[in-house]
Amino acid sequence: MYIDSHCHFDFDVFDDQRDALMSRCLASGVGGFLVPATTHSSWSKLASLIVNYPEWRAAYGLHPYFLRNAELAQVDLLGEQCESSRVVAVGEIGLDCWPDAVDMAVQIDFFSRQLSVAKSLQLPVIVHSRKSYDLVLKCLRNVKFQEGGVIHAFNGSLEQAKRFLDLGFVLGIGGTITYPRAKKAHRVLAALDSRAFVLETDSPDMPLNGFQGEINTPLSIPLIAQCVATIRAENVELIAMQTCDNLLRVLPKWNEGSL
Ligand SMILES: [Zn+2]
Repeated sequence: MYIDSHCHFDFDVFDDQRDALMSRCLASGVGGFLVPATTHSSWSKLASLIVNYPEWRAAYGLHPYFLRNAELAQVDLLGEQCESSRVVAVGEIGLDCWPDAVDMAVQIDFFSRQLSVAKSLQLPVIVHSRKSYDLVLKCLRNVKFQEGGVIHAFNGSLEQAKRFLDLGFVLGIGGTITYPRAKKAHRVLAALDSRAFVLETDSPDMPLNGFQGEINTPLSIPLIAQCVATIRAENVELIAMQTCDNLLRVLPKWNEGSL
C-alpha cells in the first residue's frame, strides 16, 4: 500500500470527481491520504469532507503563501480546530521566499505562532518551505520545536536534509524527481537513508514529467515510487513499505482511531 503524504484532495477542482478518483486510488494501492489545509476559510470544508473518507487524515494551518487575507486571530482558533476528526498534524505552515509572497516578517510571525500551537498540542507539523530552509530551521530552533513532521516537497542539499532529519523530520519526495533535469535532487535522494523520506503528490499541483499542464492526482504516487526505486536502485515494494513506515513514525496519531 502507498500513502500520499501531501495532497489537496479538498480543493474545488476535485469536487465533481472526488468519489470516482478515490475509488481509482484505492484500486491502485494508494490507500492513505494526508490532506493539509491552506487557509482559514478552507478548514470547514476539509472537516466536513473528511467524515466521508476514512482513508484521509487532516492537518490544519495557515499556508504561508496565502496569508494575504489571514489574521492572527485565526491562529488562536487553530487549537480548537485540531480537536476535530482525524487530525494528525498542524499544516501546512512555513515560509515562502517567492517574490510575490507576503512580507517575510509577517510570515515568520504566523509560522512561529503556529509552531507554538503545534508544540503545545504535541502535534508534528507539515512544513511548506520555498527557498527558505535556513530560515525555517532558525524558527524551529527558536521555539525549541521537537515534535518533528514532514518537510513538504524537499529540494534542498544533503546538508540541509541532515539538519531536518536531526530535528525529527522526514522529507517529502514528489513529482520533481521524475524530471531528468533534476540532477541535484536525484543525487540527494540516492544518498538519503531509507528512513529519511516519504512520498507525496501535492495534487492538484506539481504534475509529473510527461503530464505537464494536467491536474495532478494521488494516482501519481506509484509512478513517483517507481522513479524513486530506479534512482535508489531499490525494489519498489520496499519503497512503498518504508515510506509508509516513515510517515506513520512521524505522524503517530495516524492510526489512533479511524472515526
Ligand atoms: Zn501543499
